[in-house]
This record gives sequence, structure tokens and C-alpha cells, in this order.
Amino acid sequence: MSTIKTIAFIGLGNMGGPMAANLVKGGFDVMAFDLSQDALALAKKNGCSTAQSVAEAVTDKDAVVTMLPAGKHVRAVYGGADGVFASAKAGALFCDCSTIDVQSARDVATEAKKLGFTMVDSPVSGGVVAAEAGTLAFMVGGTDGAFEAAMPVLDPMAKAVLHAGGDGAGQAVKICNNMLLGITMIGTAEAFVLAKKLGLDPQRFFDISSKASGQNWSMTSYCPEPGPVPTSPANNDYKPGFSAAMMLKDLRLAQDAAQTSGTSTPLGAEAQALYAMFDNLGGGNTDFSGIIQMLSGEMGKD
Ligand code: NAD
Repeated sequence: MSTIKTIAFIGLGNMGGPMAANLVKGGFDVMAFDLSQDALALAKKNGCSTAQSVAEAVTDKDAVVTMLPAGKHVRAVYGGADGVFASAKAGALFCDCSTIDVQSARDVATEAKKLGFTMVDSPVSGGVVAAEAGTLAFMVGGTDGAFEAAMPVLDPMAKAVLHAGGDGAGQAVKICNNMLLGITMIGTAEAFVLAKKLGLDPQRFFDISSKASGQNWSMTSYCPEPGPVPTSPANNDYKPGFSAAMMLKDLRLAQDAAQTSGTSTPLGAEAQALYAMFDNLGGGNTDFSGIIQMLSGEMGKD
């Protein structure tokens, strides 16, 4: 049985705010810290106590959960002079749920272990809606023991908690999966653009291709063409959903990892370039499926 009762939650943004609220609902005593006073005020409303520094938040807590923008923030929060490593209780559990580069995840986990802490990297799939509903999917990297220790902490925020492998494996799964998603979304969008140019009715194309070998998740669950999948953001002015800016971030992380590991991923590189172009044209805050508007040449038209 888990002995974890008290949790420090650091990084209460769009995702972390509702995740911390779900830990409170799960019966944990949660102390929150964020650089933003507005985020702290909201956390208080949601039943967290609040701290004015990382050190104050983590002191004497059984576990620490972090949900921060990028690798540099995670390195600073864990390793800084008043950071988690310097102030956490001996043997505490750390779950970093941020999406960051694999190398930072591995370096921070190695340092945590050296200091006698238990750590997992546990990035999530699912956006703000899933964070609010407590239905995120966690991809966890760490030892078997660390995974088991993290399970009761992640569970109140999750519909699934999946063990991906050793340190950094959660981040590795997340960026490989999202690289594939970016590529299939662009491929699916291109197929619809060409189908229409060739005079096909998009619904007919969907009906046939979704039962043929072109079938894929971007088509059947998240179709970029309005119509065939009523729940897809294409039917809601491409409101996210999962923003193109977030997809671009993950594609960049995938390319970083490809470079560091000496892996050739030409389609991943092309997907990154196309999402960067979409972002430059103002598409960053639209759903990532909205890239079909750029590919069809409709972007910017009234
Ligand atoms: P966000 O920008 O809304 O929140 C990040 C929070 O971290 C902010 O409130 C910021 O003030 C805080 N912060 C930054 N540096 C800090 C520090 N040193 N100490 C304390 N707090 C600090 O971002 P988000 O949308 O909540 O995303 C968080 C992470 O989750 C990112 O890594 C993102 O890639 C990932 N993610 C986001 C989504 C999504 O749909 N938003 C989905 C999956 C994964």
C-alpha cells in the first residue's frame, strides 16, 4: 500500500492547475507552487495550500509532481540552489509530467537517483479537457519500482498509466508517437486536398479510404476535413484540441532526439518544417488538423 499522503505540485498552468485539483479530489494533501500568483490563487480555490518557493513547497512532502514548459525549466526547478533536490525529504518520489527532451529527462533522473530519490518521467497524452476530467494517459519512464511507486499518485489524474521502459522512455514514446501523428495528419490532409481537386466527394473518399489501406487515426478519429467525423475540430473552426504550436514543440523535440541519436527521420523533419510554416502564417493557436487549410491554399482567404 502506498504511504504517499502529501504532494508538492509545481507548475499550475493550463494542464497542471486541473491536475493538482484532481490530486486534491483523490484525497492527497497538495501544496502548490507556481511563479504566477493568479495560478496560485486558482490552486487555492481548488483545495491546494500554496507556497512562495519551490523549497517551501517540497519540504517534508512524500512526493513532488512537476508540470513545466520545457527541459530548461525542469532542470532549474529540480537542480537549482533552492530547487527540489536541495530541499526535498529523503527518499521522496518525483514525477515529472512535463513534455521535455529525452536527454534532460535522463540527466535529471540520474541525478535524483544519485541523491537517493525515486523518479519517473511521466509525460501525458490528452489536453486540458482530459486534465480536467482526470482522463490523461501517462507514459512512464523509470525502474519497475519507481513505476509502482508513481502509480497511486498518477492514478487520480489518469485513464491509463503505461510503463514505457527505463529513464526517459516516457518522453521517448511521447515524441515518437507525436512525430507519427504529425506525419499522418499531414498525409491525411494532403489526400483530402487532392481528392477534392480530382472531383471526389470528400465523404465518399472518407467512406472508402477509411475502409481501405489509407485508414489511420488522423482520418477516422480526428479527420481534418469537416464532415466525416462530427467530433473532430474541423467541425468547430479548428479550435484546439491539440494546438499546432504544441505539435510543433513535440516535432522539434523529436528532431532534437533524432540528431542526438544519429537517426534519419526525413518525414519527421518535413513535418516539423510544415508545422513551422503553419505557425509562421498564424496557425499556432489553431488545432493541428487545421494545417489542411495551409495545404489546400485556403489560408488567409476570407
Ligand atoms: P503552461 O504554460 O500553461 O503552464 C506552465 C506553468 O509552469 C506556468 O503556470 C508557469 O508559470 C509555470 N512555471 C514555469 N517555470 C516555473 C518555475 N521555475 N517554477 C514554478 N512554476 C513555473 O503550459 P501547459 O499547457 O500547462 O503545459 C505544461 C506541459 O505539459 C508542457 O511541457 C506541455 O508541452 C505539456 N502538455 C501540454 C498539453 C496541452 O494541451 N496544454 C498536452 C500535453 C502535454
